[in-house]
Amino acid sequence: MTQFTDLGLAKPLLKALTDEGYTTPTPIQAQAIPGVMAGRDLLGIAQTGTGKTAAFALPILHRLAENRKQAPKRSCRVLVLSPTRELATQIGESFKSYGKHIGVSVAVVFGGVKYGAQMKALAPGIDVLVATPGRLLDHLQEKTITLEGVETFVLDEADQMLDMGFIVPIRRIVKQLPRQQRQNLFFSATMPTEIEKLTVEILNPNPLKVSVTPAATTVERINQRVLFVEQQRKRALLAELFDDPSFKRVIVFTRTKRGADRVAKGLEQVGIDAAAIHGDKSQGQRERALAEFKAGKVRALVATDIAARGIDIDAVSHVVQFELPNVPEAYVHRIGRTARAGADGSAVAFCADDERNLLKDIEKVTRQRIPSFDRRNDRQLGAATAALPEVAGKPERPAQPHRGEHKPQRNRNHSAPKAGHRNEGGPARGGEQPARAGFKGPRRGRGGGGGSQHASSGRTGVWSNR
Ligand code: AMP
Repeated sequence: MTQFTDLGLAKPLLKALTDEGYTTPTPIQAQAIPGVMAGRDLLGIAQTGTGKTAAFALPILHRLAENRKQAPKRSCRVLVLSPTRELATQIGESFKSYGKHIGVSVAVVFGGVKYGAQMKALAPGIDVLVATPGRLLDHLQEKTITLEGVETFVLDEADQMLDMGFIVPIRRIVKQLPRQQRQNLFFSATMPTEIEKLTVEILNPNPLKVSVTPAATTVERINQRVLFVEQQRKRALLAELFDDPSFKRVIVFTRTKRGADRVAKGLEQVGIDAAAIHGDKSQGQRERALAEFKAGKVRALVATDIAARGIDIDAVSHVVQFELPNVPEAYVHRIGRTARAGADGSAVAFCADDERNLLKDIEKVTRQRIPSFDRRNDRQLGAATAALPEVAGKPERPAQPHRGEHKPQRNRNHSAPKAGHRNEGGPARGGEQPARAGFKGPRRGRGGGGGSQHASSGRTGVWSNR
């Protein structure tokens, strides 16, 4: 089997990999690293959990180490676009840890926080910039960042970018990239037509194509079951699941932000520590919730799909889907939050009668029959539901039956934000334009996120290892 030492990576990178305890490349790493090191473009069909971040970060760092030079002022040598702040932060951290013996400079830039520190980090020129599209566009329009120094461009989770309405911002960003001898690495878990078009626009001809299908292997490793249950009894069923002490660290998925809040409150009411994360929470709140969950202070993290994207938390014992997702692929993404890095995991999905079509679609896409148990008309559950205290706020809306072909649905978990409110650091409404409503330019230092931030980010939405 190929080892990292067989790939010709620079010594400081091998040392960092040893520090991480990684010896064997994952399939996407083994297939992508040599070609990317040689300067080829890459089209990677892969989702999180496959090791795709290291598949691009390692050869990029190798090339940076081989050719040390200063990036132009206010610019970067490597630009990575990520759909969410959480994923951007994780990618930045990966570059930092794999590149720690090389001494590369890394900065992460996303929306919802002040501009000043981001501008300062970029001012002298930086090796690697990881950014969300909306905030990067703001900087480009204000000329506080330029892309003239970009030698390598990475677009991560392109299909998620499409779902979040980032395609127009991405095209605008790409227009500003230098054309000559630019290396492009393009990653997407799925290939809808719009994304295929984008690959042609961005990639040089004949890119290296690597497709890994963790969906099937991940699915196989996860112990899955579906529980049929009445919508109004799901809360009691969830509480019942938590009676089992093996439900130690559980991610609960809901379809909407309001739903996430309600489920978290409902759990708290029955004595189960829970935190909710979604796009309406401030960056500080999200990071606090994640930190508490990681530290084992809360047993349940209740999340919407987009908020949970890219979150890499080890030892998630169970994933519970309070509602089934409208898009079958999201089912695979959700259950992939457990069984990380080779571990086994369990996934439980609640299915109300009006969600049966969604379940059918999921079974079709994942080519499996998920074991199911019928808890409808269950007396015990009925009594438990009657005994539950009310949760303030309106109850969840019923499922929207989904039929036929999968169409990406934009901003599913995010109603159009209010003017001036930024959603995941990205477009404001309908996903067609970057958020500009009320925008007065970075120099005015608009704030927003608030709360405590990532340890290295302060309140700034940027960290750099300079
Ligand atoms: P990613 O798909 O980039 O989100 O990576 C998924 C997880 O796998 C992360 O926790 C990585 O740190 C971990 N990982 C990446 N490459 C390897 C490797 N070669 N061996 C073991 N774990 C890895």
